Amino acid sequence: MTRDLFARHRAVLPDWLALYYEDPLEITHGEGRHVWDAEGNKYLDFFGGILTTMTAHALPEVTKAVAEQAGRIVHSSTLYLNRPMVELAERVAQLSGIPDARVFFTTSGTEANDTALLLATAHRRSNTVLAMRNSYHGRSFSTVGITGNRGWSPTSLSPLQTLYVHGGVRTRGPYADLDDRDFIDACVADLKDLLGHTRAPAALIAEPVQGVGGFTSPPDGLYAAFREVLHERGILWIADEVQTGWGRTGEHFWGWQAHARSGPPDIVTFAKGIGNGMSVGGVIARAEIMNCLDANSISTFGGTQVTMAAGLANLTYLLEHDLQGNARRVGGLLIERLRAAAAQVPHVREVRGRGLMIGVELARPGTDEAAPEAAATVLEEARAGGLLVGKGGGHGTSVLRVAPPMSLTVAEAEEGAAILERALRSI
Ligand code: PMP
Repeated sequence: MTRDLFARHRAVLPDWLALYYEDPLEITHGEGRHVWDAEGNKYLDFFGGILTTMTAHALPEVTKAVAEQAGRIVHSSTLYLNRPMVELAERVAQLSGIPDARVFFTTSGTEANDTALLLATAHRRSNTVLAMRNSYHGRSFSTVGITGNRGWSPTSLSPLQTLYVHGGVRTRGPYADLDDRDFIDACVADLKDLLGHTRAPAALIAEPVQGVGGFTSPPDGLYAAFREVLHERGILWIADEVQTGWGRTGEHFWGWQAHARSGPPDIVTFAKGIGNGMSVGGVIARAEIMNCLDANSISTFGGTQVTMAAGLANLTYLLEHDLQGNARRVGGLLIERLRAAAAQVPHVREVRGRGLMIGVELARPGTDEAAPEAAATVLEEARAGGLLVGKGGGHGTSVLRVAPPMSLTVAEAEEGAAILERALRSI
């Protein structure tokens, strides 16, 4: 059945939809932190948490809210007063840490970043943008243009002029050997140098922890140091929190808070799991920035009553159950287990992470060279053992990405770590 579906997939969908696994997986249902495939195999899901389903699969609170709202009304998000949208916007604005915050809802992270670029370029009257090397920001014409990870930037044409900045990757590149303070100073010096050679950019966009790029983060404080340089010149700071928001990094509710010394970003974008499976994305900005567009705008599907109901139910659940605290505690334990497991495996270059966002970077033993075939082997072996993990990284897709739903239990963390350990040993 699944093989037949694969053939039909290949015949009708674009080749650049990169399916995982030699024998692709058809997931048919899920519950909690588990999913099942069409053959009835059960898997512990260590990846879906950062894709669609932040909290848990088939979470009854969200399912009920969605079904009830779908049974009542789904209509234009923005042409009529939309109570669930106003309520979710109020809560998101209050949680954002941005003064005088306004919120605009979209259907995806791509569209959220696109809107952030629209605002920043209009506000600053400049279409030059700074982005980080190895970054990922989406799939639209504008966001592929600011995606520094070349493997995910399928066209060299862009409506924006983009300049790439060092700093998002700590353990590779020219400053890898410096200590944290010197690393930050070197990246700030680079940024200043870049700004000396260019017309004034609108903004710098950055993921506090790079997601698709392989769960790499700079030393705490890098973006605070950047922020000072940017703000002296009137340049905006956009934090792409599509993967890092809502407590996933454990210590902080937003990824940017690891850099909070000098205050919040000017614009924050979010998406992925906040609707726990329903498409909720959005942009948060100070009113002065949000309101800078010259003409009216609308969104048909961004913020529909049904997706907002999902967002409200999911946000309520994750706050009431302190899933940020859970990400910190269970994530801390998981990273310890994975570090211990990796110590026996010569292919592991680094185990890193924050909260429930953990990367296991593989390399050819004794070198810094990527080992994508080893990563592919581990992915297959983990699947055979009943565990789904992701992959990523800007250096040959050599990083295993671990990002379970944020309600992961200690027992599940132990079970998943044991399966991943066996898979790593099979390289
Ligand atoms: N920003 C980041 C940091 C992401 O990881 C992604 C998705 N991988 C996006 C933006 C784009 O989001 P979407 O796929 O919902 O368009």
